[in-house]
Amino acid sequence: MSAGNLASSRLELNLEYLGLVRSQAVLDGVLEEAAREDISYVEFLDRLLEQEAAAQRERRSEGRIRYARFPYSKTIDQFDFEFQPSIDRKRIKELLTLRFIANGENVILLGPPGVGKTHLAIALGMTACQQGQCVTFVAAEELVTSLREGFEAHRLPEKMRYYQKPSLLIIDELGYLPLDRMGANLIFQLIAKRYERGAIIITSNRSYGEWGEVFTDNVIAAAILDRLLHHSATINIKGESYRLREKRKAGLLNRTTEGCIVNGQETGEISIGEK
Ligand code: ADP
Ligand code: MG
Repeated sequence: MSAGNLASSRLELNLEYLGLVRSQAVLDGVLEEAAREDISYVEFLDRLLEQEAAAQRERRSEGRIRYARFPYSKTIDQFDFEFQPSIDRKRIKELLTLRFIANGENVILLGPPGVGKTHLAIALGMTACQQGQCVTFVAAEELVTSLREGFEAHRLPEKMRYYQKPSLLIIDELGYLPLDRMGANLIFQLIAKRYERGAIIITSNRSYGEWGEVFTDNVIAAAILDRLLHHSATINIKGESYRLREKRKAGLLNRTTEGCIVNGQETGEISIGEK
């Protein structure tokens, strides 16, 4: 074997040993390019490592997205702003700069079911993951169950730390089910711990005036709102459910049956009096 061949196969092995998978895959191409364009050693190394770094950034971002446990993936490009004119595009664009995360501020998305609250929350969360932030997505009901289990197992501090840690915590569907006193208390403790330290996005179908009912206790609701709203942006979405529009388009629904029974199943969107 010639010295050149020996070096080449050792290089392959070393790239593999070092876990530089992308470099290994693109090496031949970059070498050919380098010879053709007669570039310097530095330029060659730069082109190779640029690709390696891009691949690693992608992998880490995917890892953070998996860790966040989004129920599904949604991006801002998939959001039809024309359909929801009550949303100020500029405000969403501002939120996408993620300054609210750096400042430990909160975003509260309010509105009836189907208007895109969860979609926007996921899109913001995924953007944060791509920009290197640690995110956790949790449904409010699951959060309360998880904290309650922690409390019962004398491991509440550990559970609290888990939800305190991410730079962005997304609590989805707060208010769909009313909380008992203990549930409300646990949520209050978590929000108080993250106050001015870690950003929170909350989605809710209940207006602030109804939070007393959601938390079964006006005093706790006021204490939660006090901390939550101190540094926050509220996006109030007033509009039609996107899901219902899709169904209407598919001919499964007409205006007179809207919000009642669709194919023998309740739409689940009735109680809010969707129009
Ligand atoms: P909410 O959380 O307000 O109940 P979702 O965000 O779950 O509503 O939206 C319901 C479905 O409709 C999702 O699949 C979502 O992606 C889609 N959707 C809602 N609003 C829009 C929109 N303006 N453009 C595109 N898709 C939308
Ligand atoms: Mg939702």
